Amino acid sequence: MASRFDGQLRWLHKVRLYPTCTQERALVTMLRVTRELYNASLQQRRDAWTTRRVSLASREQHAQLTELREADPRFAAVYRECQDAVLHRLDLAFAAFFRRVKRGETPGYPRFKPAARWNQLQFPHGDRALKFNTGQLRVCVPGVGAIRLRKGRAVPEFGRAFLVTKNGRWYAVFEAHRAPLPLPATGCSAGIDRGIRVLAALSDGTMIGNIRSGSRRRAVVERHQRALDAVTHKDAGGRVFNRHERIRLASVRRLARAKECEANARRDWLHKVSRGIVQRFDRIALEALRLRSMTRSAKGTLEAPGVGVRAKAGLNRALLDAGFGMLATLIREKAANAARTLIEVDARYSSQTCAACGYVCKESREGRRFTCVRCGHAADADVNAAQVILLRAESPPKRAPGTARGRQYVAA
Ligand SMILES: [Zn+2]
Repeated sequence: MASRFDGQLRWLHKVRLYPTCTQERALVTMLRVTRELYNASLQQRRDAWTTRRVSLASREQHAQLTELREADPRFAAVYRECQDAVLHRLDLAFAAFFRRVKRGETPGYPRFKPAARWNQLQFPHGDRALKFNTGQLRVCVPGVGAIRLRKGRAVPEFGRAFLVTKNGRWYAVFEAHRAPLPLPATGCSAGIDRGIRVLAALSDGTMIGNIRSGSRRRAVVERHQRALDAVTHKDAGGRVFNRHERIRLASVRRLARAKECEANARRDWLHKVSRGIVQRFDRIALEALRLRSMTRSAKGTLEAPGVGVRAKAGLNRALLDAGFGMLATLIREKAANAARTLIEVDARYSSQTCAACGYVCKESREGRRFTCVRCGHAADADVNAAQVILLRAESPPKRAPGTARGRQYVAA
């Protein structure tokens, strides 16, 4: 199906909302009604299958929804397209389930949604449902009223829209589309590798550290975590028995906000770093996604527990890796938007390969330094690896004759 957004890049524009108490109650009611609809429709499909061996099509459920809206004023009060989106979401959950069954996996059956896991309202044709007043100071939501918006950049033309709640705050998310906006050419290329002590190293010698105030925010999170531990009471089995106590709930929320704040700061920093890289370089080489390192755990596995791994060090390492994954994602997005060339290369043995002569040897690498055992090339280990990645992007690896598989990379 041709869309008016063909060939354009999708992006999300998020704006904080400031609903009044009455408006927030209306939004919470909408969340509750749509969640009930999801759970009831799921139950209905389950029952139809277990008792009558019938797969209910969503078309029938859409028709029943119309009847339900006529019978129950609570359902009639909620914007119809939000409810259609709920049935569509259920379709997607079942489609994903059957796709995995077909592949021979054993996926979990689509689950009922508790309130804690139901935090957004979708408007499939948001531009039709949500209207702004002049100056975009308020957005009018059907059935809720005109909600005050945070003043900021103008909301672009959008298609789908979502109202999302997180840690007691509300946001509007608009799905917008735009054509790529090419940046002027600079004539520079760079390879990027994840560092040992830094977030990433560039082939020109630049080291990108993690956000500077990270440790300060981490300390705040840890303080809130200790505060939560202090008000949490567990029985002998480790089960929390004051889960719903007000003082504990408040503590949970304070911890969640502190974590959100930390994540926001890190994401902001990564946006700035990736923007800088995409502005400076025309050709950017990255290591292709390594699934093993993404799923690696510092604790090791049951069969091979991580011996002598300090929990704290493992945590920091995991954070660094997650940070690098997000940096790579943002570089990919921004490079696509700026029409930059992005090359993903196989990064295996890049940390043991010499950027000057291409010789691969484990002994060349000593902690943070790299000194080639053959040609004597000396550099920072992370920078050397980034240079190897850049070389591989410019000339794809040729396997030298008579060497072990995938071991020898010949530099250009
Ligand atoms: Zn060398």
